Amino acid sequence: MTKQIGHFIDGQQVAGTSGRTADVYNPATGEVQAEVALASQSELDKAVAIAKAAQPQWAATNPQKRARVFMNFVQLLHRDMDKLAEALSREHGKTLPDAKGDVIRGLEVAEFCIGTPHMMKGEFSEGAGPGIDMYSMPQALGVVAGITPFNFPAMIPMWKFCPAIASGNSFILKPSERDPSVPIMLAELMIEAGLPKGILNVVNGDKETVDGILDHQDIEAVGFVGSTPIAEYIYTRGCANGKRVQCFGGAKNHMIIMPDADLDQVADALIGAGYGAAGERCMAISVAVPVGEETANRLIDKLTPRVEALKIAPYSSGDDADFGPLVTKEALQRVKNYVDAGVEAGADLIVDGREFSMQGYENGFFMGACLFDNVTKDMSIYREEIFGPVLSVFRAKTYEEGLDLAMSHEYGNGVSIYTRDGDAARDFASRINIGMVGVNVPIPVPLAYYTFGGWKRSGFGDLNQHGADAFKFYTRTKTVTSRWPSGIKDGAEFSIPTMN
Ligand code: NAD
Repeated sequence: MTKQIGHFIDGQQVAGTSGRTADVYNPATGEVQAEVALASQSELDKAVAIAKAAQPQWAATNPQKRARVFMNFVQLLHRDMDKLAEALSREHGKTLPDAKGDVIRGLEVAEFCIGTPHMMKGEFSEGAGPGIDMYSMPQALGVVAGITPFNFPAMIPMWKFCPAIASGNSFILKPSERDPSVPIMLAELMIEAGLPKGILNVVNGDKETVDGILDHQDIEAVGFVGSTPIAEYIYTRGCANGKRVQCFGGAKNHMIIMPDADLDQVADALIGAGYGAAGERCMAISVAVPVGEETANRLIDKLTPRVEALKIAPYSSGDDADFGPLVTKEALQRVKNYVDAGVEAGADLIVDGREFSMQGYENGFFMGACLFDNVTKDMSIYREEIFGPVLSVFRAKTYEEGLDLAMSHEYGNGVSIYTRDGDAARDFASRINIGMVGVNVPIPVPLAYYTFGGWKRSGFGDLNQHGADAFKFYTRTKTVTSRWPSGIKDGAEFSIPTMN
């Protein structure tokens, strides 16, 4: 019998009752390994009602005690690291070391939340007027929700629920239906760490469940990560319903390679940043922009053998694979279609991975690495997010042309420059209109105590994820102006009573 994955509500796993399910694949074998329940409106309503009832007491729990849950949670994540990584790889397809990285980059946000008492401090002005004090208090919103993508099924749910819960909210997590097991395991660990029941609920589902969240009167805020069309949809509908919404979308991240860069370093960086996790990362580099013909020719010479030598394997084969399969058959077909379109549009396909087949795993969703040269602006492989193991080389004549290229792309998630020239790097970091910038760093994902967020059509809303912004997003500020009439102080007797 196929394994059934339900929801996690009120501190325990519950079976779905809607009668609707989605298949969960093992991308390495191509087999359906489980069915995940898709929640109905009434199942969502029940989870929200439970979350709403549990929240006031949690918000009233002192912040040190709330922080201690995260101390325990971090330890439990370390304890169960292998188990979590295995479950993650089995549904997503990424290699085990990469799956551990997925857990760890979420764990680091849980570590940041151990500082919750500090993050929840307000401001105080003594004597703001005659006898007047003024102070502010960040307070939790109530019930909030997170809707997350398939490509980081541990990290992104933790980016959402850790700061939300740490700041006193209860949470409805709607993870991706493609890899739903790890989010439920995380919720179980939070309970084991001491979180009261009902504060973290995982409601599996699809568009119907998402729409239920967006229209729900008792959900105050929604954090989303996924593709740009859905991000925009969720932002628009959530805002129209009066919610606080932040949505992070797709990307097309460029790396500008200056003529003075160390091209061996660049080629190594591009291999990891372009093809790691089969390119299914919002911070993957998908466009390499060498400046000058000579730089471009040398880069292609160095890249080609490296791309050809990439090792593709199922996660279960050991730790030395560079990347695994794509997440679904549809994703595989979509990526192949892009490569076909690139060839048709006239780009030079230097390395063609379309026909790759994994021996013993012929039904898996594997594809080889592809490398394009002479890509131009009008091509769909340049304009659109491919989200696969495909790297495009776009030759720029000058630094300004490279800068302008990245700046005029509709996406603005991440970007990187490789150079030995501090002045060029400084100018680039200052002028570029992109949210996260790497200087000789290919994937500039900020650490947990900074914030993560793209610009332009990679981000909708005004605050970033994790770091201080997350606490701002999940709280609202109350400001109190207080004056106490003179009273007991005047009437009090301070001299030692005598008999006179
Ligand atoms: P997706 O947009 O298909 O799905 C994301 C979430 O939205 C899932 O929970 C899904 O169930 C839900 N959803 C899907 N279709 C919907 C619809 N029509 N209406 C309402 N909800 C819907 O994204 P994905 O394929 O899971 O993830 C890959 C995308 O996420 C890529 O575009 C990638 O760049 C992006 N991403 C962005 C960031 C970031 O921080 N900017 C991080 C990771 C991934």
